[in-house]
Amino acid sequence: MNLSHIEHLGIAVRNLQEAIPYYENVLGLKCYNIEEVADQKVRTAFFKLGDTKIELLEPTSEESTIAKFIENRGEGVHHIAFAVRGIEQALAEAEEKGVRLIDKTPRAGAEGMTIAFLHPKSTQGVLTEFCEKR
Ligand code: ZN
Repeated sequence: MNLSHIEHLGIAVRNLQEAIPYYENVLGLKCYNIEEVADQKVRTAFFKLGDTKIELLEPTSEESTIAKFIENRGEGVHHIAFAVRGIEQALAEAEEKGVRLIDKTPRAGAEGMTIAFLHPKSTQGVLTEFCEKR
């Protein structure tokens, strides 16, 4: 498969307004976009660092997988996302090599990306996302 770089790291936070000042005032990054992804019941805040982004994820509902993640494990790194060319082929290839897929078909994510997740049981506990610009 054709991975080019780490597109972003997803970090689960309870509250964007409380988390953003750390990235801006301590690390000196700039939040350039806040976007709600209704589909996933999250609000996301984005920072850029080179080719890689930091994506903060705040649950907008207790049903959100992010809410459940925080409940079980606390705030922290939630997933790693690789930029891929040919996301459908990458998924097919992963599946063929025995990786369990959360998303058999790619779906719409934030920032105009097409995304799909691999199951952490197949990836040494790291929830892994593929994403490709739509
Ligand atoms: Zn992500």
